[in-house]
Amino acid sequence: MRTTRWFAGLVFVGLVVMSGTGYAGELTIAESNQCNYQIVIPDKGREEVVDNWLSAAAKLMQATFEKNGFKIDVVQEGAKAADKPGIYLGATGFAKKNGINVEQHDDWTYYHKAVGKDLIIAGNDKKDPKTMLALLGTVKGVCDFLREYAGVRFLFMTGDRFNKDGSLNIDTRSVAFTPVKKIAVPDNLDLKKTPMMRANCDRSYETFNSISLNFFPPLSHIVGGMAAPAGTAVGWPLATEYAKSHPEYFALSKDGKRACDLSPHDAYAMAVCAAGKGVQDLMYMEAEKLIADGRKTITIGCIDGYGLSQCNCEECCKLFGMKAENWDQIRARGDSGKLWQAFFKITERIREKYPDVKIICNRSRLPNLTLEIQRMPIR
Ligand SMILES: [Zn+2]
Repeated sequence: MRTTRWFAGLVFVGLVVMSGTGYAGELTIAESNQCNYQIVIPDKGREEVVDNWLSAAAKLMQATFEKNGFKIDVVQEGAKAADKPGIYLGATGFAKKNGINVEQHDDWTYYHKAVGKDLIIAGNDKKDPKTMLALLGTVKGVCDFLREYAGVRFLFMTGDRFNKDGSLNIDTRSVAFTPVKKIAVPDNLDLKKTPMMRANCDRSYETFNSISLNFFPPLSHIVGGMAAPAGTAVGWPLATEYAKSHPEYFALSKDGKRACDLSPHDAYAMAVCAAGKGVQDLMYMEAEKLIADGRKTITIGCIDGYGLSQCNCEECCKLFGMKAENWDQIRARGDSGKLWQAFFKITERIREKYPDVKIICNRSRLPNLTLEIQRMPIR
């Protein structure tokens, strides 16, 4: 279960990763080993848990800069050097002066705003009155900033902790600092974002990982409708239901036979044609049914990548760019990460007609994690 969770979490990253280059007007924060910025946190005196989290977020940002050869200090607002621009985190006086009122939000809404050479990252941060948890909009804003502009990928679910001296203790396997040559944002950056984050399940504390991944996996009311037609394994067709009526749902072997016609077979592990019109339509129609039932969120599940990488039909060969005539080819297909495009064909189709519906791709097993991460689609 644990493995399943963080694999599934990666999916969410894959869907929201954005490219950070190529803006017409850029505010360059760090480049060529040079960084003149300071990370500015509010002066202390608020709730301890908030102070600690803002400090930790600043330290994670500092660690990211340092991994890329950029030296940057973390200072409280009252001690900021007047001659340096700042990345202002949380409810600073500077954020307030520039019209960012975080107190109005009772959710994880955050702002990314460029003001001249300065950058504001702020959301509402406050302790939950009844639990160990806190609302940490700024921390979410920092995680998203690091992911979008500074090459950070949150991989593993671990408990981030402080050392006794107050320094940040992160399991370095849990965060990937992919190298970047520069850190820059659009010079007109003015983003207000309300992430899909609600009550967390079965956790007594928050981590960078859980915050960065929107507390994935979410509670059932956020998962919404599962696009899983009757007779399906996690959303994909089962031979017991469709072998006779729709053999085209199942993988085409190199000998021209469908997987459902080969024996012996396990209906739940049946290789499926992921890119062909039949299964694509089946999933789309199921999503439409859920939307008609009033669902605002839809989750599309899938089985492992090898099971969806075995079909030799024209669409599947086109999708993967190779045939699947032996296990080496099937593995290469699974490791290529191209299976994502089969899911995106479904999600884009839904999004075009129902732009307000949120779609989660819940991919529970990956064939080759390392390769998959490297080839995670950048969208
Ligand atoms: Zn196919």
